[in-house]
Amino acid sequence: MLKGYRYKLDLTPEQYHSLSQTCGNCRSVYNYLLGKQKEEYAKTGKFIRFKDMSKMLTALRNGDERPWLRDCSRVPLQQAVINLDRALTNFFNSRKKAAAGEGGQKAGFPAFKCKHRSEDTAKYVNGVAVDFVKRTINLEKVGKVKFLRNREFPSGSKIINATVTRDRCGDMWVSVLVEDGSSPVPKAKVSEEGAVGIDMGLKDLAILSDGTVYENPRYMEKLLGKIKVIQQAFSRTKAGSNRHEAMRRKLAKLYRKLRDCRVDYIHKMTCALTDNFSTVVIEDLSVKGMMSNHNLALHIQSASWGEIERQLDYKCKWKGVNLIRIGRFFPSSRTCSVCGYHNPDLTLSDREWTCPECGTRLDRDLNASVNILKEGLRIHLEGTRSKTAEAAT
Ligand SMILES: [Zn+2]
Repeated sequence: MLKGYRYKLDLTPEQYHSLSQTCGNCRSVYNYLLGKQKEEYAKTGKFIRFKDMSKMLTALRNGDERPWLRDCSRVPLQQAVINLDRALTNFFNSRKKAAAGEGGQKAGFPAFKCKHRSEDTAKYVNGVAVDFVKRTINLEKVGKVKFLRNREFPSGSKIINATVTRDRCGDMWVSVLVEDGSSPVPKAKVSEEGAVGIDMGLKDLAILSDGTVYENPRYMEKLLGKIKVIQQAFSRTKAGSNRHEAMRRKLAKLYRKLRDCRVDYIHKMTCALTDNFSTVVIEDLSVKGMMSNHNLALHIQSASWGEIERQLDYKCKWKGVNLIRIGRFFPSSRTCSVCGYHNPDLTLSDREWTCPECGTRLDRDLNASVNILKEGLRIHLEGTRSKTAEAAT
């Protein structure tokens, strides 16, 4: 199976400079070609094909306009072209799907990468070698660079690629994708026993149908408070000044700390989920994703939901756990999980309600997670029934 391993790089000033430059070059190639794509579309209503973009890269690299492109390996630059092509394809596919009335995550039109706002990356696909004894990784045209040891991948794994990232704090990381030769665990049978529904909450991070509540970690609020203070101070500094840059870094470090803590907490949760249950039911997040807005706490909450989904996706595959997604229009909060009564008057602020039909006192989020579980099992059963019906005819 494919697995990713991430290490922090420990670079000499020359190596740092060289990798920074490569990352910057990838961004500039991406932006250059995206600009050309926009021009072409405005003129002809068509986009430039991948093959022609590759030719344009060759011309750009051989020309006099940007001679510094020749200083770095061609491979990461070519990968930037592949990334752009993929982003465009995703955009068109999701537009086609939307036109056909299908759901799923919406992909926007690719945006220009900004030096300060996006993380810079450079992907190496060949000539990558890792030495765990010396703690070095070999990257084309840069040579052997040191990294801080973390988890080792099993010996005999085949390295697929390595992506170098310069984060917004200015630190460099490498993510190595390997094929470790293992095969996924076969899927367990779906049964009510061993199944769990998850409601991704607003107040709490997640509520399970068995009553377990994953609260938002406490440090989050503390860090958010700090971020707000620094953000204000930052907005008062003048762009281009030393103080502006110092504050930007400080802010980026706080955001990184927040993300690291959050992701770590979610890892613990998704590990427990995939170890203790054989079927996990979640909501299609495209609904909740739409709420991502300018409210910082909400924005972070929706990023957490995305992270939960991402981790469940691969951990379920590894461990043979069934992951069922239920439809975007299922009214999980408004339905009574005991008798099925539909309560149309429920508002977001109602944390608890009493079902007028059967008299049960319901906790909003727990009720939702029980409904999500029920709906997931129903969808699964319907799916297997229609499959056996098909097989019978
Ligand atoms: Zn009821």
